[in-house]
Amino acid sequence: MIYVLKGITVYGVKACDAQNCLPGYVTILKTYLRLKEDGFMRGHVDKDACIGCGLCESICPEVFSMEDDGKAVAADKEISDDVMDSARDAEEQCPVEAIRIE
Ligand code: SF4
Repeated sequence: MIYVLKGITVYGVKACDAQNCLPGYVTILKTYLRLKEDGFMRGHVDKDACIGCGLCESICPEVFSMEDDGKAVAADKEISDDVMDSARDAEEQCPVEAIRIE
C-alpha cells in the first residue's frame, strides 16, 4: 500500500484503517524511517551547476545519462548495491560538484 504523509510517499502496511488512528500512523512513520535507515539512495543532479562534461555518464551509466539539453540527469530509482561504488565515484569526480547521492 502507498500512503502520503505530508508530501512524503511511504510504502507499508498500516496497522489500522480507522480514520485518524494514531497507531496506524506510527506504523507508517516507522516504515518510512526504516526505509531511510536501509539506505534508500538516489542520485540527484543540480542542472544549474552541471556543465555537461559527460563524465558521470561515462563512470556510471546505470545511474547518470545526458539529456537533450546537454545536462546530466540521474535515474529516478534506487541505486542498487552493485552500482553504488561507481555512483559515488561519479559524485566525487564531478568537476563542479553537481551530484549528490542521498
Ligand atoms: S560530471 Fe557533473 S558536470 Fe559533468 S555531466 Fe555529470 S553532473 Fe554534469
